Amino acid sequence: MRIDGKAVATRLLADVKERAAAFAAAKGRPPGLAVVLVGEDPASQVYVRNKGREAEAAGFRSEQHTLPVTTGEADLLAIVAKLNADPGIDGILVQLPLPKGIDTDRVLLAIDPAKDVDGFHPINVGLLGSGAAEKALVPCTPAGSVILVESVLGPSLAGKHAVVVGRSNIVGKPVAQLLLQRDATVTIAHSRTADLPALCRTADILVAAVGRPEMVRGDWVKSGAVVIDVGINRIPAPEKGEGKTRLVGDVATEEAAVHAAAITPVPGGVGPMTIALLMANTLAAAHLREGLPRPPLGA
Ligand code: NAP
Repeated sequence: MRIDGKAVATRLLADVKERAAAFAAAKGRPPGLAVVLVGEDPASQVYVRNKGREAEAAGFRSEQHTLPVTTGEADLLAIVAKLNADPGIDGILVQLPLPKGIDTDRVLLAIDPAKDVDGFHPINVGLLGSGAAEKALVPCTPAGSVILVESVLGPSLAGKHAVVVGRSNIVGKPVAQLLLQRDATVTIAHSRTADLPALCRTADILVAAVGRPEMVRGDWVKSGAVVIDVGINRIPAPEKGEGKTRLVGDVATEEAAVHAAAITPVPGGVGPMTIALLMANTLAAAHLREGLPRPPLGA
């Protein structure tokens, strides 16, 4: 079975839109999302544009602040402070990577944790790590990945062994925390793990967040496993013509699909979930800031 991330994300976004309208009716204002982009990185420009478009489609107030690459840290911090103080803004996202010369940690630390819809602030990282995810804003890609696991296995992962390959702060570690919270038994693997193929073969749930094209081969996958491929890698595709490229994940999908019970494709798996979770996080932040119960993730 291919896990259709696009379909799950579309359902989630429809639910967010409905709840945003109810929030606006109750509070006299829509949820607000501000995205800050420094510089002209083409990939970041596309991401920021898409985030603005989805926010508008969800009925949010959507703001984009585009700053020149020469912007200094003090100016960026001043914008973050202004957005922190704006009562109509519930979510602040500073698009990474930031240009050299700006201390990313200092900027992320300056964002009000209650508006930190990327979930990277140490307060939110700590809430997730201490098992209080319901109070935290959780990073979007990990939250989206785990919703896809739940779409196959249901909410309880008790008795399942999950192997997460990758230990980054933005994907691997938060995915592992979320799986642990759902009672899976979790192993985190990384570049120093011994005999990774043998470890992966013990996984009922295998999450690949490595950044290496098709590293996870078919014979690493246990029969009946659920495979979540977080990787997005652009590789040359000479078969499509000279200079052409294509996207692949961290898993050799066709090989792995022979053994897996369910697997996410790339593109169309985890990718669409990330932006949907950004909208869900903004909606959640709006509710929590207004003292309303946090809405469920109604995918
Ligand atoms: P990252 O920060 O580079 O982390 C990669 C992790 O993989 C590290 O923990 C590294 O181990 C581990 N690793 C590298 N080579 C390995 C190997 N040969 N064997 C085992 N582990 C290995 O990457 P990331 O930011 O987590 O992103 C991972 C992938 O997800 C990338 O392809 C990225 O493009 C994709 N991504 C997708 C989305 C989305 O929206 N779908 C969002 C974010 C990221 P060490 O710690 O030991 O170095």
